Amino acid sequence: MAANPLAPLVRIPESILAEVGSGRLDGAPPERVIEWGFDRFAPRIALSASFGSPEGMVILDLMHRIDPKRTRVFTIDTGRLPQPTYDLMDRVRDRYDLEVELFFPQPEAVQKMVREKGLNLFYESIDNRKLCCHIRKVEPLERALADLDAWIAGLRPEQSVTRTDVRTVEVDSVHGGRIKLNPLATWTRDDVTKYVREHHVPVNALHAQGYPSVGCAPCSRAIKEGEDERAGRWWWENPETKECGIHTGSEAEGSGI
Ligand code: SF4
Repeated sequence: MAANPLAPLVRIPESILAEVGSGRLDGAPPERVIEWGFDRFAPRIALSASFGSPEGMVILDLMHRIDPKRTRVFTIDTGRLPQPTYDLMDRVRDRYDLEVELFFPQPEAVQKMVREKGLNLFYESIDNRKLCCHIRKVEPLERALADLDAWIAGLRPEQSVTRTDVRTVEVDSVHGGRIKLNPLATWTRDDVTKYVREHHVPVNALHAQGYPSVGCAPCSRAIKEGEDERAGRWWWENPETKECGIHTGSEAEGSGI
């Protein structure tokens, strides 16, 4: 996979790279993974939350329990999010008393794209969809990561066919060699649901309406019984193309928020 040219390179100490390479953290409990990340990277580590999946909210709750002072969370406001996602951001700010670090697309780039291709360009072709994801998600993500040596995501292998090789801790070569933590890599959907219920974690109201994964409003729908969790994202495309570039680093291969 090609390195993302927008991503600045970061220098991670050899001792940390050796720990990651050893695989010692693979499958470790989420609390241990988060503590490991805090101890090595804070304050240059943050959770990337979409506010559209329960996994991110579970990790945020865990981070806050472990150390509220070292808990940072950022999100990308694409400008096309549904209202329940904004409602959840405000609930999170109130409940955890923390600032959600918001990043927005470059207005000039959005304006040019929409003037040339229309507001709903993403339905017309995969190239158009990837262009929109790049401008509204991938480029703002690069700015969010510029301040970080490590980032945390809520990826789980069973979410979809594009996520089967997720590791608990990995070197993210497509984002400048940063360390990426996926503390829930070994959790099942049931584990996530149980944690949310037991700890009264706030989640997106659309989950109760059949949306296990909520992204931009025009590109998310409720799923049917038996479909995988991300089947409602870009449902008009093949499953193999359905990432937006945030977790693959390349809009040509699809991202994840
Ligand atoms: Fe654009 Fe849809 Fe991607 Fe959102 S999910 S950035 S609206 S193509």
